[in-house]
Amino acid sequence: MESSLFGACSASRRLVVTLLLAVTSLWAATPVLAQDKSPQEALLAATTAFRQGAWDDVVSDATPAIEDLTPAPGSNAGTLARLHYLRGLAAEQISWFGMAQADLGPFANVEPPPGLTPAAVVLARIERVKPFVPTQIEEIRDGNAVAFRVYYDQMNPFVRGMIDSLRTAYDANHRLMGFDLMETPVFIFTSSQNFSSFYTALIGRAPASTLAGLATNGAILIPPPLAGTRLAENPDASAFASVTVHEFNHCLLRRVWGRGRPPQWFVEGMATVAEAYASDQEDQLLKRRFVRAQAVNGLLLPDQIRQDQVFTRAADVSAQMNVNGDQGPDPYAQAYDMTSYLLNSLKPDDILPFLTSLRTKSFSEALQQYGGGNEEQFYAAWVAKVRGQ
Ligand SMILES: [Zn+2]
Repeated sequence: MESSLFGACSASRRLVVTLLLAVTSLWAATPVLAQDKSPQEALLAATTAFRQGAWDDVVSDATPAIEDLTPAPGSNAGTLARLHYLRGLAAEQISWFGMAQADLGPFANVEPPPGLTPAAVVLARIERVKPFVPTQIEEIRDGNAVAFRVYYDQMNPFVRGMIDSLRTAYDANHRLMGFDLMETPVFIFTSSQNFSSFYTALIGRAPASTLAGLATNGAILIPPPLAGTRLAENPDASAFASVTVHEFNHCLLRRVWGRGRPPQWFVEGMATVAEAYASDQEDQLLKRRFVRAQAVNGLLLPDQIRQDQVFTRAADVSAQMNVNGDQGPDPYAQAYDMTSYLLNSLKPDDILPFLTSLRTKSFSEALQQYGGGNEEQFYAAWVAKVRGQ
C-alpha cells in the first residue's frame, strides 16, 4: 500500500531523533501557523473551531493574530485577551500544558467569558497532573517540526522500544492520512502508580488495568507492560509498533473530528487500517482473523459493533489470553474489514473532508453526503460484499 488515501504526501522526509535533557523545554509545543487573517476574523475562526472541539485549529487560528497584536494591542486588547483564553483552553485539551499555563495564567482570578471553563479550574488541573509527568524528554522530529515530544522517567529496553516504534507510527499514519501531522505528546511510564496518578489527575477517574496504551487528550499514554503479555516478554519491534501506530491514529483522528462521535467500529477500524499500513504481516493477520471469526460466530450487528464496550472487552480478552478471535466474533477484525470497505468506497479526495465533516454532522449524515448511503445502507452493502466473497 504505497499511495496515500488522502492524496499526495511526502513520506520520504526523514525523522531525526534528538535527545533533549533540558527541562526548560518540558512544556513547550510548536503550533502550525495559519494564513493571515484580521484579528476579528482570527477570533471568529478560533471560536468556531473551539465549539467544534478542533483544538489544533484553535491554536493555528489564534497564534498568528496573537503574535501580530502582542506588541501593540491598542483597541484590539479585548480580542487579544479572548484569543489567549481560547488558545489556552484548547492547548490544555491536547496536553500542551506549557502553552495553556502561559495563556491562562493572567486570567486565573478573572471571571471567564460566558460559557467557557474558568482559567483557574484548568490551571489547577494542570498543577495536579504536573508532579506525575515523567521528567526525561526526547523529541522526534520530522524536518523542522516536532512530531512527538516523549516524556519518560528512566530508560530501559521497554521505553527504548516504544520510543523507537514512534517513527513507524508516524510514517504509517502520515502515509495513510496524507496531511502534515500535529505535534503529539507521548507519556511513557515505568511506574504503574505514577501512570495511575497521572491518568486520574488528567481524566478524573482511575484507568482500566489492562491497557497496553491509550490515546487521550491529544496524547499517547503508555503504562508499564502487563505481566504475561507480548509486550512484557521479549517484545520485538512489531509488538511496540502495534501499540503506537494504533494509539497515534486515535490521537490524530480525534484531533480531526473534534467533538464528532463516529461509531466505535469506525474509530477502531481506522486504527487497525493504520496498523495494516505499518505492517503487511499485520494486514494478513487481520484478514485471517476476520475469516476465522466469521466461520466461528458470524458477524456483529450494527448495534453491537457501534459500542465501545464490545472493543474494550475484546482488548481485555486479548491482553489476558494473548489470543484473538478464537472464541467468537472479532470486533477489531470486523471493524478493519468494514473500514477498509468504507475507505475504498469513498473518493480518495473526499476522505479528509468526510472526516472533518464529522465535527458538525452525524456519521450517517456525513456518509450520506459523501456517497456511502446512510449507516444502515452502508452496513447492508458491506454485508452483501462479505457474503459475495
Ligand atoms: Zn483502539
